[in-house]
Amino acid sequence: MSGKSAGDLRVRTTAAVADTRLRASLVNATDTFAERKDGATGQLADWDGLRAAGRAVRADVLAHLPDILGRFADNVLAAGGNVCWASSADDATRYIADVIARRGATEVVKSKSMTTEEIGLNHVLEAGGTRVTETDLGEWIIQLARETPSHIIVPAIHRDRHQIAEVLSQVADGDLAAVPEGLAAFAREKLRERFLAAGVGISGCNFGVADTGSVVLVTNEGNGRLVTSVPPVHIAVMGMERVVRSWDQLDLMISLLPRAATGQAITTYTSVITGPRKADETDGPEELHVVILDNGRSATLDSEFGEMLACIRCGACLNACPVYRVVGGHAYGSVFSGPMGAVYTPLLLPSQQADELPQASSLCGACWEACPVQIPLQDLLLAHRRRTSADDTSVAERLAWRAWATAWSKPRRYRTSLRAGRFGASLGFDHRGPAARWARTREAPALSKRTFRDRWEAGEV
Ligand code: SF4
Repeated sequence: MSGKSAGDLRVRTTAAVADTRLRASLVNATDTFAERKDGATGQLADWDGLRAAGRAVRADVLAHLPDILGRFADNVLAAGGNVCWASSADDATRYIADVIARRGATEVVKSKSMTTEEIGLNHVLEAGGTRVTETDLGEWIIQLARETPSHIIVPAIHRDRHQIAEVLSQVADGDLAAVPEGLAAFAREKLRERFLAAGVGISGCNFGVADTGSVVLVTNEGNGRLVTSVPPVHIAVMGMERVVRSWDQLDLMISLLPRAATGQAITTYTSVITGPRKADETDGPEELHVVILDNGRSATLDSEFGEMLACIRCGACLNACPVYRVVGGHAYGSVFSGPMGAVYTPLLLPSQQADELPQASSLCGACWEACPVQIPLQDLLLAHRRRTSADDTSVAERLAWRAWATAWSKPRRYRTSLRAGRFGASLGFDHRGPAARWARTREAPALSKRTFRDRWEAGEV
């Protein structure tokens, strides 16, 4: 949420709604994910039971986080790796820049990581003169386009193949055809050069397994394996909440994550990295660093929003959200978008602009239904609204709500207000005055001429 004026959320959403190409790309992609997810979860006897088990695992981890994290870090060290406890984004980026400088590297390759987006790592490294190349195809596209991700697992979801061809043509000898296979082949060839030239590979970490100090990456492109094994140094950046106790807990998590994210029973690559390369191994990095990032998470854990840290970044709530599906991720103006972003961003980067995000929700609960670990996102959105309403709500709105509460707190007043409402609607007041802006993009249901009570008393129901 940087560099935007207070009114920007409305400006951004208005522009997004008017962008028919964006809306077509979003609907196309999110519908495909939803269909695949229905297929993948429909094959299971009890998807909701699995979600409940997932929620229980995440609750267990969050309740014992210091112990589990401590064991994870001990085992990373025991396996020959290094651990950095980073309390802030600055701590993390400084440590990573120091490792790169110490190794004399001038170039790094990265696999997709929202945690490195969160800490603005590319910006810091590039400002220090390091060449950074994103190697996930979607991330590379938005890096070349100088954009931020518009979806947590599909960063270039907002672009169609013609727009992608235009972006990739910037680094080609001529114009590339908008053919997905050709574009992927071009990216593969270009990125291979960067893997071989890089001195350091940087990845995220989907899960850390405390029992063995292992970093687990769940990816669909082979780039993650090249990032973590070709350069001599691998740095994994992990949000401190992304641990599990054991392989049993991991088993459940990697059953939930791909099904919820992309509708796959299993992702193409599940990579497990335990320490740097051993003497008898043929591949892997000489040096492994795990950066464990707090950056406000401890404070969140101790707050009423602690359950948000159960998030496994699957993106299912974005795909299900009727708001996200229309406006896309950039309208949120933050690294994290959709329902999870609207809850998480005000915690991560508290600001007046971030506090607007929880208002950008219909509170329909589709996000909760989609969430593989049953985070009650709509309750957390409401908690944000309660937290900020004292400051933000206008006098007129507060008076209107008070009048409504007064009117509907007694049966006689309730009936009178309905009669007044019907009369007002018959004169068109539901489309005029203060209601005009609301009604511009919505259709208020017509009030029935006879209430349920009238029909009940007449014996009709
Ligand atoms: S809140 Fe739930 S659905 Fe949304 S990204 Fe996180 S785990 Fe997935």
